[in-house]
Amino acid sequence: MHQPGYEQFTCNLCGSISSVSQDFYREGGACSHCGSNVRFRALMYALSDHLYGKPLALTDFIANKDFKAMGLSDAKHYAVKLAELFDYTNFFYHTEPFLDICNIDNSANNYYDLLVSSDVYEHVPPPRHIAFINSWHLLKPDGVLLLTVPYTSLPKTIEHYPTLYQYKIVSDEKGKLLVNRLRDLSFEVYDNLTWHGGEGSTLEMRIFCESDLLKILIDAGFKDVKIWNEDIPEFGIFQAHQGGGFVITAKKNGNAIPAPLTQHDPHLTNIYPQGETAGHFSKHIPNRISGKRAERAIAKWAEEEGITINKPSFFSKVLNYLKGR
Ligand SMILES: [Zn+2]
Repeated sequence: MHQPGYEQFTCNLCGSISSVSQDFYREGGACSHCGSNVRFRALMYALSDHLYGKPLALTDFIANKDFKAMGLSDAKHYAVKLAELFDYTNFFYHTEPFLDICNIDNSANNYYDLLVSSDVYEHVPPPRHIAFINSWHLLKPDGVLLLTVPYTSLPKTIEHYPTLYQYKIVSDEKGKLLVNRLRDLSFEVYDNLTWHGGEGSTLEMRIFCESDLLKILIDAGFKDVKIWNEDIPEFGIFQAHQGGGFVITAKKNGNAIPAPLTQHDPHLTNIYPQGETAGHFSKHIPNRISGKRAERAIAKWAEEEGITINKPSFFSKVLNYLKGR
């Protein structure tokens, strides 16, 4: 989306003047020098406002090695600079330094002034509140969560696999399938999976809606929740037209009682019942499949997991037949 009146912008990551791009959307609008996109620039814009109360370029941030910060798979476009400025560690799920935000120990509780989590929590397995509560634990009182996830203004979150428990991605000649064994040991198989960063890389677990996100943040013990949805043309941040997926900042309320890390989803009423979702998102929704393809996928799951699945006995088949009549 080209904004008339602005032929160029100053990239608030690298400080360079970049020409205005034609594709200003969240992941677009690349700086012609450092390649930063709208999302990265919006993140650092919000961080500057939080730290200094004014919009400094990242190159003008003030070094402070007493400032404890962490990122979850942050982009190098800003992570490199944050590491120069602050006592900052960029953690990863798949490589060192490791951190699984859904499974933290208590050793770093109340440690961080800042936690950057950009486009991560749409990928964590359900229940989705665990990642938010753990973020709260890692922060100091009044520490800031600098958050982005893709989200909509729909009334509910689209949770792709609400009953996810013991799952694996299985490939066959037609593509990739998700095989999930539920707590009751029954199976579900899905096709039409959505990936971020190319097929097989990072699986999308949900499409948040704004109201769900805000509720989860508050229930996890955050306060001063702010949505950064404005355009900042001089920094090449054109985003308001998107209607969602904006940067959110939230502070840890140190007086909040820690929320319980239950495996039961306390926000179930915020998600669409399975198979029921609004309009044009339907093509992004995984399909539950059955039949031969699903059976082969389950067999493959079992083989890879080294688990023997008991085939139904003749007796139970007869019983099921009679029940089904
Ligand atoms: Zn740049």
